[in-house]
Amino acid sequence: MVFETIAKTGDHEQIVYCYDKDAGLKAIIAIHNTALGPALGGTRMWNYATEEEALVDVLRLSRGMTYKAAAAGLNLGGGKAVIIGDPKKDKSEALFRAFGQFINSLNGRYITAEDVGTTVKDMGHVFAETSWVTGISPALGGSGDPSPLTARGVLHAVKASAFEKFGSADLKGKKVAVQGLGKVGYYLAEYLHKNGAELIVADIDEEMVKKAEEKLKAKVVSTDEILSVDCDILAPCAMGAIINDDTISKLNCKVVAGAANNMLKEFKHGDQLHEMGILYAPDYVANAGGLMNVFVELEGYSRERALERTQGIYDNLIEIYKISKEMGIPSYKAADEMAERRLAQIGRLKQKHTGLSSRPFTTLKVEGR
Ligand code: NAD
Repeated sequence: MVFETIAKTGDHEQIVYCYDKDAGLKAIIAIHNTALGPALGGTRMWNYATEEEALVDVLRLSRGMTYKAAAAGLNLGGGKAVIIGDPKKDKSEALFRAFGQFINSLNGRYITAEDVGTTVKDMGHVFAETSWVTGISPALGGSGDPSPLTARGVLHAVKASAFEKFGSADLKGKKVAVQGLGKVGYYLAEYLHKNGAELIVADIDEEMVKKAEEKLKAKVVSTDEILSVDCDILAPCAMGAIINDDTISKLNCKVVAGAANNMLKEFKHGDQLHEMGILYAPDYVANAGGLMNVFVELEGYSRERALERTQGIYDNLIEIYKISKEMGIPSYKAADEMAERRLAQIGRLKQKHTGLSSRPFTTLKVEGR
């Protein structure tokens, strides 16, 4: 059953089931592809109804990470882990340390980080058992909250999309609607304001909305109105699947570029945006700033280098829009195409043998010597 599901979902390299009875750990690590480098992806903790559901989720998420890292131009592969359990009730130091030991056993083939249901504190426990974890707290030498870097990357995505659509990356006077003023959305709104954009915002959190109104001169609309408001650029920074059958015909923007993951409810909505002439910055390319940040942490963290890295998102999107035009395909497909090209080209280079640090066949006896 497990192999059948793996075969159906994709072309993964390795699936590791982790079980520790005493610690109450049931987890699955999925390594999708390591052609570009070690597989990196967060650990999700979720109360999955069945083990099958957890397996399908980790297979899907790890495959997504291969594409995200490849399109971001990082030397990383795609991986992900899921812990089966209720993040509100089932967490303990022992659980995350047991999990850390399993990650350690993979010798750096898989590197983890926090994700839905896990926190920087949980990753601190993982770090007690393995160094193959990133996005840990600054107190432990990590880079901390990646949201400002994600927001900076989205700003570059907005600028690249403005250049593509309006012929200039200058955001002065451009009307940008930001849905969600959370960890990423508020930083993005600040950056947009500094760049001279006119902001329209909505959030269910009234305090954040008030702050944006007062500090960033943002126009406030209701959460029902934000997707249909008249604007140049819509920046979704709340939840996924917001481009769907109900919302797509109401959009009143020329560009969609934001941080939200899995913005398109189905692929057909990406096709529809293309047909409607609305430029869509593929979500996993636009929101790669956080991933770039943890990559820099692995190299030895510097905020300046992390900020510099996020600038690459501008060029990545320009390349995607070029592929989209050349091949006559929607941008979400062009992003996959760009990732697959890099996986094929660089992956092939990496297959070359790089030599050995020592002679491995020490017991070899050569006749006559
Ligand atoms: P967050 O929870 O801090 O912020 C989300 C905000 O959206 C909250 O303020 C919430 O009140 C608001 N919201 C919820 N429902 C809303 C609605 N119907 N209308 C308007 N606002 C609503 O999350 P975040 O970390 O800022 O992430 C935002 C999105 O970006 C998510 O989809 C996340 O997966 C994605 N993302 C985040 C990062 C990161 O570094 N934090 C990286 C990549 C992708």
